[in-house]
Amino acid sequence: MHILDGKKVSEQILEEIKKEVTLLKQENKKIPHLAIILVGNNPASETYVGAKIKTCERVGFRASLIRLPDSIEESALLNKIDGINSNDDIDGLIVQSPFPKHISPEKVIERISPGKDVDGFHPENLGRMALNMPAFVPATPFGVLQLIARYKIPTAGKHCVVVGRSHLAGLPMSLLMMRNARPGNCTVTVCHSRTADLKHYCMQADILIVATGQTETITADMVKEGAVVIDIGISRIPDASKKSGYRLMGDVKFDEVAPKCSYITPVPGGVGPMTIASLLMNTLEGVKRKYKQV
Ligand code: NDP
Repeated sequence: MHILDGKKVSEQILEEIKKEVTLLKQENKKIPHLAIILVGNNPASETYVGAKIKTCERVGFRASLIRLPDSIEESALLNKIDGINSNDDIDGLIVQSPFPKHISPEKVIERISPGKDVDGFHPENLGRMALNMPAFVPATPFGVLQLIARYKIPTAGKHCVVVGRSHLAGLPMSLLMMRNARPGNCTVTVCHSRTADLKHYCMQADILIVATGQTETITADMVKEGAVVIDIGISRIPDASKKSGYRLMGDVKFDEVAPKCSYITPVPGGVGPMTIASLLMNTLEGVKRKYKQV
């Protein structure tokens, strides 16, 4: 059994990005600039945004945090996005979710210019991705692809079962594994909360990718001997023995599943660290595209 070490691979990717930024500087080209809008002060969002900004600084990107109050009107938020869309100095824009209830996530996502949508959530990017055209690929599934590619895990002709169909994780993941690309070319089955007999499908997976947000969705009896198991799930479980007051758990019962696998991601340290690295890869790609167009 091999661990898919997302921490190690993400460190390699960040070093590669840092080198590219140094080259851009030497050539007097534009330094990637990521803008992040944070509405309100959800503690988990604060942590994610803080990590994104710190990682931007580490690789030499510029990062701007735009804090807006919970009470902001939807129209005011959309106007703010318009302003950033038309600001040529900013290459990538993310609006950290979740949003307050009175704000429509669909309206926010559709308002971001597809060329700056480095989260890859805009319908135009998702559509282009599905059609195997150049696009910003959502960071978490992109991170999973990077892990698969860098560990040289064969995918063509394999049966990939994706558990979860969210716009953020399961849906794009299934499209990516199905595409005529490398990694890709899998035969894909997508399962969700209405799937009858989840175990039946999981047992057939050569590659099992899980994003349910429910701890212990996958137990050892659901996994085929030698399968590759990728756990996207991250749940915060209250734990008084931890300084933070919680511990992180995935969707796979790691201790009992790992011995059956050829490869498996741990939680934490698997898919999680890959997500920020992929976001930064997208932002750098946005800048490189501009130079290709000139
Ligand atoms: P959502 O709640 O949006 O989607 C969960 C999906 O899982 C839904 O499609 C749901 O089905 C399905 N599902 C839920 N329970 C079961 C079950 N028991 N059996 C089968 N399917 C089930 O979550 P997200 O996709 O946004 O996130 C999933 C997990 O991934 C979370 O833990 C989240 O924190 C984590 N995550 C981690 C990231 C990272 O950086 N590593 C980034 C993004 C997410 P239905 O559609 O029928 O409701």
